[in-house]
Parts: sequence; C-alpha cells; structure tokens
Amino acid sequence: RAKAEGKNRHVFYASNMAGEVQAQRSMEEGLRRALEEEEFELFYQPVIDLEQRRITGAEALLRWRHPKGGLVLPGSFIATAEALGLIKPIGAWVVRSACRQGRRWLDAGMPLKVAVNISAAQLQEPYLTATLREALEESGLPPQLLELEITESQFVDANSAAVLREAAALGLGIAIDDFGAGYSSLAYLTRLPVHRIKIDRAFIDGVGTSREAETLIRAVVGLGHSLGKRVVAEGIETEEQLVFLGEAGCNEGQGYLFGAPREVPRMDALLRERPTFAALGAARRGRGG
Ligand code: C2E
Ligand code: MG
Ligand code: MG
Ligand code: MG
Repeated sequence: RAKAEGKNRHVFYASNMAGEVQAQRSMEEGLRRALEEEEFELFYQPVIDLEQRRITGAEALLRWRHPKGGLVLPGSFIATAEALGLIKPIGAWVVRSACRQGRRWLDAGMPLKVAVNISAAQLQEPYLTATLREALEESGLPPQLLELEITESQFVDANSAAVLREAAALGLGIAIDDFGAGYSSLAYLTRLPVHRIKIDRAFIDGVGTSREAETLIRAVVGLGHSLGKRVVAEGIETEEQLVFLGEAGCNEGQGYLFGAPREVPRMDALLRERPTFAALGAARRGRGG
C-alpha cells in the first residue's frame, strides 16, 4: 500500500514536472508571439504632485492582452521574460511606447513626466542608452519628461551604476522604486544619479496603524530631502494616508485614491475631467486631523 502510494506520488510528481515544462514552453511561445503580434499594452497610473494636488506624471505599467487569458498582470510574466532573456526586447517596446505616449500628451498641452519600470537585466550597455536614445529621438519627447524606475535590489553591482550614469547623462530622471522593501545599503543614494525616491507601498499601508511605518516614512522624507531628492509615496488608498503624507512633506503620490492604472483613453478622460484633486483630504485637514 505504501509502495503503491509512493508510486502514485512519483507518477504525480513526474506528470507535474512535465506539466511545468509544458507551461514554461507555452509561456515562452506566448511571450514571443505577444511581441510579434503586439499583444502588450501600457496602462498608466496618474502621479500627483501633493502640494499642487495636480496630475504631473504617469507611470507606465505593462499589461499583456492574452488572446485567451484576458488581461495578464506583470507579476505573472515579467520574471519569466527575464529568465528567458526576453525582457530586453519587451523593455525596449515599453520605452518606445511610453515615449510616444508622453509626446502625445505633450502635444495635447499636458507635459506629463512618464515613468517606465526597468529590470536589472536591462541595465546593460550599449542596450540601455541605445534603446533610450532611439526612443527619445523617434518620439521627440524631451528627456526631462522621461523617468526610469529601478528597484534598489538592482544596484548590487558596480557596473549597473556606470550604466545608470550614462543613461542619466541623456537628461532623463532616475527613481528608486519600492524604497525600503529591500536590504541594500543607503550608500548608493549618493553614488547614483537618483532624482526621486518612491517609498514602498508597505509603509504607506501602515499609516494610522503602525508607528514604525510612520516613523520610517518621515525618516525617508527627511533623508531624501537632505540629499536633494524628491520623495514619492506609492499605494495611497485613503484620505488619512494622503493627509499624513502631505504633512510628512512627501512631494508626490500615486495610488487607488487618485486612480488605478488604466488604458490611455481612460487616462485621457481622467486628465480632462479630473486633473486636480483639491478637495481630497480637505475635510480631514479641516477637522484638524
Ligand atoms: P511597481 O513599479 O512598484 O508598480 C506599482 C504596482 O502597484 C502596480 O502593480 C500598480 O498597479 C500597483 N498599485 C498602484 N497603486 C496601488 C494602490 O493604491 N494599492 C495597491 N494595492 N496597489 C497599487 P502592477 O501594475 O501589477 O505592476 C507590478 C510590478 O511589475 C511593478 O511594480 C513593476 O515592478 C513591474 N512592472 C510593471 N511594468 C513593467 C515593465 O514595463 N517592465 C518591468 N521590467 N517591470 C514592470
Ligand atoms: Mg514602478
Ligand atoms: Mg513600486
Ligand atoms: Mg513593485
């Protein structure tokens, strides 16, 4: 009986492996096809200047419109794309597409700063500068309207710092994404051409419930400002969080409170109908909270 079970388990395990290999292969085929057939799409999330309460930027977030699987989020394909070496062509498409969109907004009288997420595997030369230069040239987007978002864990090697410096020399901005979520040293904040620090959503989540989170947010804002960097809060979902971040001196914010990532037409609608958020949090401020 134990033997039979063991055997079954083995069979189950083997078929599971085969299933995984199969899934991996179909994912690879799918990603290659997605590039060719243009199944990728950029959603944009508004970035708000917390002092002006106005949309001043947009973060491009990749989506895969799978012909069968509906809308696929980056969490379920970016890692595979990185492992398969497909993140470079996909990332180049992202940069080109975001630059074109940034130019469209500029032409429509809305000079939004467009942010794109960059994987560690993209921090390579000549790939990165060539990709950026071509995209900026082709679109005519002024480099000051483009920003790269990089997570702190991607800075581990000295080479990526040199690559980033070359990219920054083109005139675009660099932001550290998910700040505080990793374990890297703070030294890179002074070594790298970083313009913006994006505090990880986990800390914003703790506003109102975690003294530690609130203390860390204040500390990061202080650190960022004393280093001459702008500080952005990610994942703002409530007015309470917004009021706290405003009082803490955070420069910018994004989150579901202002708007979730959306397709370009819905982003255009937001820009048309609700470019400012003056009233948000006002009641709470009025109550002295
Ligand atoms: P990220 O750059 O930190 O992006 C923020 C994520 O938080 C997005 O998830 C966004 O939809 C989500 N978010 C925004 N506001 C809120 C909020 O108020 N509450 C909550 N709970 N979530 C919020 P998304 O779009 O699934 O992207 C996940 C990650 O995938 C991104 O994290 C980024 O690291 C990566 N990614 C997205 N697009 C690209 C890309 O084009 N290239 C690369 N290499 N990575 C990308
Ligand atoms: Mg990001
Ligand atoms: Mg982030
Ligand atoms: Mg993230």
